[in-house]
Amino acid sequence: MRKRHLAMTLSRLEGFQNPKPELEQYRTPGDVAAELLWLAHSQGDIAGRVVADLGAGTGVLTVGACLLGAERVYAVEVDGDAVGVLRGNVERLGLSDCVEVVHTDVSDFSERVDTVLMNPPFGSQKPHADRPFLTKAFEVGDVAYSIHLAKPEVRRFIEAFVRDFNFSITHRITLPFEIPAQFFFHRKKLERISVDLYRFQRV
Ligand code: SAH
Repeated sequence: MRKRHLAMTLSRLEGFQNPKPELEQYRTPGDVAAELLWLAHSQGDIAGRVVADLGAGTGVLTVGACLLGAERVYAVEVDGDAVGVLRGNVERLGLSDCVEVVHTDVSDFSERVDTVLMNPPFGSQKPHADRPFLTKAFEVGDVAYSIHLAKPEVRRFIEAFVRDFNFSITHRITLPFEIPAQFFFHRKKLERISVDLYRFQRV
């Protein structure tokens, strides 16, 4: 599968029906998800690996990891409506054998995995909503991929947080990200923001 084909497949998945702003439910755009997945795949972190997708939402990263040959993906999601959409997406693509849905708060997830993938809440609605995600990623895996706002204060926070958990940043790639206006702004329909895609590795 090529990167562009992956991006297209992911962008055609069923999305959130009534996105909940308090949970920062915006799906990862297909092209951004494909960047993350392609980087992970090229680093040998997907094929044949056991993966966790924390805050899996409608399953964009989960589905992508299965399509790229993950052995198993734990799709961890707290919201029942999102879990329903995720199950539909997974079934439609015939990936049920690859996915184990874990309907819970990320803090309660406890499986050991090879690789964590996530597009966590940025903490724009609920301050520090990204922290339980980072903490859990560093607890259950040795490698993690994540997306955060590309802002100096966020970068400083991530750098310090990662060090405290004995992880290092091996990659940081800045990408444009389109986000529905309802979450942050009021005028435009879509806002273009910059995000950093990270790869973290245990030291
Ligand atoms: N990863 C998905 C969705 C990103 S939106 C995608 O790439 O499209 C963030 C997701 O995290 C939402 O589905 C939201 O419901 C979920 N979420 C937020 N807080 C959570 C928590 N504490 N535990 C589990 N899931 C959570």
